[in-house]
Amino acid sequence: MKISVLTLFPDFIENIKDFSIVGRAISENRLALECIDIRDFAINKYLQVDDYPYGGGPGMLMQIKPIVEAIESVKTENSKVYYMSPQGKVLNQKKLNELKNEEHIILLNGHYEGIDNRVIENYVDEEISIGDYVLTGGELASMVIIDGVSRLLDGVLASEDSFTDESHYNGLLEHPQYTRPREYRGLAVPDILLSGDHEKIRKYRLKESLRNTLNKRPDLLKNKKLNEEEKKILKDLLEGGKDNGLY
Ligand code: SAM
Repeated sequence: MKISVLTLFPDFIENIKDFSIVGRAISENRLALECIDIRDFAINKYLQVDDYPYGGGPGMLMQIKPIVEAIESVKTENSKVYYMSPQGKVLNQKKLNELKNEEHIILLNGHYEGIDNRVIENYVDEEISIGDYVLTGGELASMVIIDGVSRLLDGVLASEDSFTDESHYNGLLEHPQYTRPREYRGLAVPDILLSGDHEKIRKYRLKESLRNTLNKRPDLLKNKKLNEEEKKILKDLLEGGKDNGLY
């Protein structure tokens, strides 16, 4: 997969190439990441890329010419263009799963008061937001997408389980996890995790995953299609958390 980032601050994005999972995805050639400096397509020798908004108002807007030419410098028939924008649909795991199946995504980062709307109307496939708040520029949003997509690419994480078990992948939050030592200052790891009984551990984790979701993000359960086992566990949790011999 290839990601092209169109930005006024390529160095900001370049840093992400050397670290952690994104770094691994790139070094194993599972991800190609390039940064295009929109200023390379500036309208004059002063490298101007912004101007006053027609009709007045505060701040400056990024102009259409540098952005369109930056897009055209990388776009092919298999590319999709995404504008990082507080006006877009808010990013979630489902969207990341869709993006990772694209051959080439172009992430356009605005700055100042944003960009000339003709770009959005004519050259952008979709606007993506990372939350209902306003950032100074789109770069952090692009980095969120680059990180979130990289870990989903085939072979990047050690095994598929690494992300299929994680929060949001299957519509639930992940169950709590523990590591050594077994006990610290009287705080013990749940006995069941040390039992070696894989089926009991699976059921325990499913129940704790449902409990976590119910306690922390009950809204997620509205969109989740529960199987019979999950329905039974949820009913049990709602009736007061008595275990009913479930595990
Ligand atoms: N005037 C714009 C508005 O009210 O919709 C906001 C412009 S913002 C200061 C500058 C740039 O930051 C935007 O062009 C966009 O690329 C990026 N940005 C800001 N908030 C964002 C968010 N929540 N998600 C993604 N990108 C964002």
